Amino acid sequence: MEPIEIPKRSVPGQPAGVLTFFPKVHIFLAGGLLSALIAATSLPSTQTESHRHTLSVELPKLEASLPSAEISWPEFELDLITPSLRETELTVKSGDTLSTLFQRAGFTDKDMYGLVNSGREAKKLAKLFPGRKLIFSVNDEGKLQSLVHRIDALRSEIFTATEAGGYEYSMIEKKPDIKQAVRTGAIKSSLYKAGLDAGLDEDLIMSLAGIFGWDVDFALDIRKGDSFRILYEEKFLDGQRLGSGAILAAEFTNQGTTLQAVRYLDRNGEPQYYSPTGKAMRKAFLRAPLDFRRISSNFNPRRLHPITKTVRPHRGIDYAADRGTPVWAAGDGKIISSGYTEANGNYVVIQHGSDVQTKYLHLHTRAVKAGARIRQGQVIGTVGSTGYSTAPHLHYEFLLDGVHRDPRTILQKLPKVVSIESSELQRFYAQTQPLMAQLEQTTTLASNSTSSTKL
Ligand SMILES: [Zn+2]
Repeated sequence: MEPIEIPKRSVPGQPAGVLTFFPKVHIFLAGGLLSALIAATSLPSTQTESHRHTLSVELPKLEASLPSAEISWPEFELDLITPSLRETELTVKSGDTLSTLFQRAGFTDKDMYGLVNSGREAKKLAKLFPGRKLIFSVNDEGKLQSLVHRIDALRSEIFTATEAGGYEYSMIEKKPDIKQAVRTGAIKSSLYKAGLDAGLDEDLIMSLAGIFGWDVDFALDIRKGDSFRILYEEKFLDGQRLGSGAILAAEFTNQGTTLQAVRYLDRNGEPQYYSPTGKAMRKAFLRAPLDFRRISSNFNPRRLHPITKTVRPHRGIDYAADRGTPVWAAGDGKIISSGYTEANGNYVVIQHGSDVQTKYLHLHTRAVKAGARIRQGQVIGTVGSTGYSTAPHLHYEFLLDGVHRDPRTILQKLPKVVSIESSELQRFYAQTQPLMAQLEQTTTLASNSTSSTKL
């Protein structure tokens, strides 16, 4: 990330987007906030879990606090390792080094270098990822016979000692069984909560929000009674559920309007989501320029002018969110202004094509400079409360031909969405219609069922 420059003086001629008038709070920002956070989360720790056991013992389950908590570790292909060996299994924790792990397993740095210098793949072991496992196998002479680096439930690397004193590398990759599952849900308060209630994991909820994120503002458009239905993949290994895979088809009903999307793999194998008639779900503008999970839905910005006690027109959308929440560019474009004024606080303006501008006010930090090209979804700064603002929130404005518009009502006026080429439509329908049929079928079935269809 670039260092953030905060000019000390106001930038003249910029529109004041906030009409409430409260004593202003100037917050001068340290651009290093994020890097400080990152540094804080990677403080070294010397904790390492160690289990000594024979091969017949079942592998211990991962602790719930680990990042990959949902993944349990099914039986590994134990027949590859000679059963007379003593085994030490370590789980990599944040702050571990390969050296400390080798020591913990009863080996020296010399042993470690012997392995690491044995080849290109072994060198990569120096880069450790918390949650992964290392299984050291020791022979009767106390020498390292093999090291298994278990990347996840499906992939393991094995380094086996050779007669010549080196190590031989092999990679074992298992294919999970894929099953299709259907879940439905109705929203009482938020999509996130409804998703969890319906048994979806966080990744699936985010994917669902991502698929419809160009059409629905999941913080502000959501009403009680909105509903969804998704057809998605679940991965299993030896009967154990590893986690969810891709969403294959989905339906979202928002304020009485039903949107549908289906996953299509194009000729290059690239997955994209389309409407059942072949129009891309991806559009020129995201409806909400920040993660809906971070937005508090009950934000009620005070519109009364504190002196005149009148309601002034409010030309933007306010999203209350914690200070520091990343703010995304709503669409591809060019930063035409990134600065500070008394009213706006830290603000960014993006020009999209020739006729659309988006504005982001009261930012805590800015991550972009004027003149920079920007992609949709790229972080331009963080939510704050600079300028005329009483609490951390993002004030977002959408202007078409210089006129403030409600992004919800002008979708059809925006650049045309990409559609499947007519020459590819037949392929598209052949692939996607069965998925839509599968999704639709569930209307008549009991909800929240896992179908037994194997792909
Ligand atoms: Zn506002």
